[in-house]
Amino acid sequence: KTRVYRFGNKVADGNSKMKNLLGGKGANLAEMSAIGIPVPPGFTITTEVCTEYNLLGEVAVIDMIRDEVEASITNIETLMGTRFGDKDNPLLVSVRSGARVSMPGMMDTVLNLGLNDEVVLGLAKKTNNEQFAWDSYRRFIQMYGGVVLGMKPASKDDIDPFEEIMENLKGKRGIQLDTEFTVQDLKDLVYDFKEAVKKQTGHSFPTNPWEQLWGAIIAVFNSWNGDRAVYYRNMNGYPADWGTAVNVQAMVYGNMGNSSATGVCFTRDAGTGENVFNGEYLINAQGEDVVAGVRTPQQITVLGSKRWAELAQISEEDRKENYPSLEEVMPGLFKELDGYQQKLEKHYRDMQDMEFTIQEGKLWILQTRNGKRTGAGMVKIAMDLLNEGLIDEKEALLRIEPNKLDELLHPVFDPKALKRAHVIAQGLPASPGAATGKIVFFADEAAKFKNSILVRIETSPEDLEGMHIAKGILTARGGMTSHAAVVARGMGKCCISGAGALKINYKARTLTVDGHEYHEGDWISLNGSTGNIIEGKVETVEPELSGEFAEIMKLSDKYAKMKVRTNADTPKDAKIARTFGAEGIGLTRTEHMFFEVDRIKAMREMILADTVKGRKQALQDLLPMQRSDFEGIFEAMEGLPVTIRLLDPPLHEFVPHQLATQKELAEEMHISLQAVKNKVAELEEFNPMLGHRGCRLGNTYPEITEMQTRAIIEAALNLKERGIICKPEIMVPLVGTVDEFIAQECIIRETANAIFEERNDKVEYSVGTMIEVPRAALLADKIAEHADFFSFGTNDLTQMTFGYSRDDAGKFLPIYIQKGILKVDPFEVLDQEGVGQLVQLGTERGRSIKPNLKVGICGEHGGEPSSVEFCYNTGMNYVSCSPYRVPIARLVSAQATI
Ligand code: PEP
Ligand code: MG
Repeated sequence: KTRVYRFGNKVADGNSKMKNLLGGKGANLAEMSAIGIPVPPGFTITTEVCTEYNLLGEVAVIDMIRDEVEASITNIETLMGTRFGDKDNPLLVSVRSGARVSMPGMMDTVLNLGLNDEVVLGLAKKTNNEQFAWDSYRRFIQMYGGVVLGMKPASKDDIDPFEEIMENLKGKRGIQLDTEFTVQDLKDLVYDFKEAVKKQTGHSFPTNPWEQLWGAIIAVFNSWNGDRAVYYRNMNGYPADWGTAVNVQAMVYGNMGNSSATGVCFTRDAGTGENVFNGEYLINAQGEDVVAGVRTPQQITVLGSKRWAELAQISEEDRKENYPSLEEVMPGLFKELDGYQQKLEKHYRDMQDMEFTIQEGKLWILQTRNGKRTGAGMVKIAMDLLNEGLIDEKEALLRIEPNKLDELLHPVFDPKALKRAHVIAQGLPASPGAATGKIVFFADEAAKFKNSILVRIETSPEDLEGMHIAKGILTARGGMTSHAAVVARGMGKCCISGAGALKINYKARTLTVDGHEYHEGDWISLNGSTGNIIEGKVETVEPELSGEFAEIMKLSDKYAKMKVRTNADTPKDAKIARTFGAEGIGLTRTEHMFFEVDRIKAMREMILADTVKGRKQALQDLLPMQRSDFEGIFEAMEGLPVTIRLLDPPLHEFVPHQLATQKELAEEMHISLQAVKNKVAELEEFNPMLGHRGCRLGNTYPEITEMQTRAIIEAALNLKERGIICKPEIMVPLVGTVDEFIAQECIIRETANAIFEERNDKVEYSVGTMIEVPRAALLADKIAEHADFFSFGTNDLTQMTFGYSRDDAGKFLPIYIQKGILKVDPFEVLDQEGVGQLVQLGTERGRSIKPNLKVGICGEHGGEPSSVEFCYNTGMNYVSCSPYRVPIARLVSAQATI
């Protein structure tokens, strides 16, 4: 079995299809090398070795790969003409993680490996650059110390132990920047760093390059199980047994003087999707300098540079003088880079995110991967690639991540409110969207307020969880490719980076701009599309959807076979859903119409009535309200089917539980307070979710079903008179036995017939049932003899199949998920293994009686991608979901057919 794969000099053992074995990075390096892109030579230790390491431990694994690793280092030595550990002509290497999917910054990296007190002298002599050699050495000790030897800050308020030594020296020397250190300063730093290591760890810093290499390889394996990586894996549902590969590669340097540089670039705009090559670079710098945001990075292209200068309000003269683009500074190398980016995008047929280094006039590509992008970027890039002929329609659809569409549907700032807004500063529009919230300065405090904006000098992978919780992210440092920017775009979270005007004081928890001080808890708003930072809270409105979005939806409809309806309780929701492409309503929860103030009174009178006569009187008052609601909904959904569900929740939800409201009600109804109290007590249930609800209400109080049927049928007749066609589907909830359904159906049909006679007119309607009690799924064939349609209520079906109360599951489900007892929340993602069996069986048994039985789903799962796919595979006619999920369901419905 091969455990180590080599690449370099336009050949490679692996290729891009071997992501599972070589990790994304390793597979891409192999592929790039094979297609003639200049990557520094190196080798990849497979992800399987990581798993072996987790099982067998360090000693056994090193034994297993020692020969292969040693031979592969020799191969790099030959290709680079250098020698590992040689004090005259040293080879230095980088050691990086690389899982099968990109996990930016979640795992560890060590650069400049192979340096020691002797090698550093050789490096200085060879490059004729003492400054560079000693700077590399101090960076190496710093990184290796942190990653391999565990030299970390003691707590979050503490400064990194190496940073502290550097800050002290800067103070002593009266300098500000790392670049101002003299050679002697760097030598002193190296000495002090090594002393600090010895003091904190009890061991000397390792001087043998081989010992360094094995230490780094093991540290990268360990970082797969580090806190950050585990959190990221859990957030994205990546299993622990994937493991990470380790990539060892010859170092090339962007910091060997002014003919050297390093940068990050994208073949298209990751924010908007626009087809423009863009990115950032720094002359005489190492990769991490661009991302860490210590220096202001410059743009790769002239176009990008000019756009950047405009945002930063920098004059053209100033720009040319101080921030020129790579295209202007190194035109020949820019052209070469431009050639590679075009070649790579064509090769991978997707937007690439690349890292490059120029070492003394020679360009090296360090990495390429499919770039992370915003939801808007994703849609535009997919449509553009389709129109450019790089991918076909099916591929374009598959390029859309369903959940990311969500970002496009979310609110933006109200243009009217924006006019009044006070912009306090501007940063880079790192990730679009609108966010408004209260300032927090620490990632682990992001949950302190319901809506928070995380304000940091810069972010680091440690901040991931807080970035996830915060509504938006604002950093004072860092460019468009900084950690904050890249991670935020991946999360679809609004982010502004590099707002240099902000002075952030973590200790005092203040943010100062132009002499004005803002504190923790103050409201601010971020416009991630323009980079504007706005004082206070700004109202938001619904977004306008782009042309590309509409095109993707049109394409979805071309391929989709299953329909998408919406769950809507009001004409307003129905209208929104229709603009998102809903093809009808799959569920109107009629009880939601009773919660309004003036209605709840009538409802309460109905519930408190002692006699049938009293109840009928109260229902008479409710009738016109329901009828007009239904008219509104039918009108909004003109011509499309509308499923209306009869009253479902337990009655006690409607009665007043507070003394003051009880008194008020007693007065209004001219009954005693005690009578009200008695009724409330009488309705009390131990387990309301399994109590007197659903069709059990309609069967014990048939007047309710009568009134609701009347409202539905009369509304339909009224619209018919106005020439509007509607197709009501009356749905009976929580049926468990066929007789429960038959009893309700009788009332519905009798009522409808009576109205048809009264009005001497007719409308078509159907009567169906929800399948949400396991018994109904089991007896679906019996029920199908009577019901016109089925709609799976997977919320209740999940509750009753698992035996988890919907109202109480919040107490233990998070712990179950944390402990891995459940992989996901079954109320969010349909449990295909268990609940899914009932759905499948219910559908089959129903259709064994009525082969054309219309079957749908209206539980919350109807808008969750994996569940929608399952519904398609089960043969459902439609899924129904909340209005904002409709586009997602349409897309998945199409993807499921591909
Ligand atoms: C269901 O149970 O899945 C359903 C749609 O009904 P409700 O959530 O109103 O109980
Ligand atoms: Mg239900």
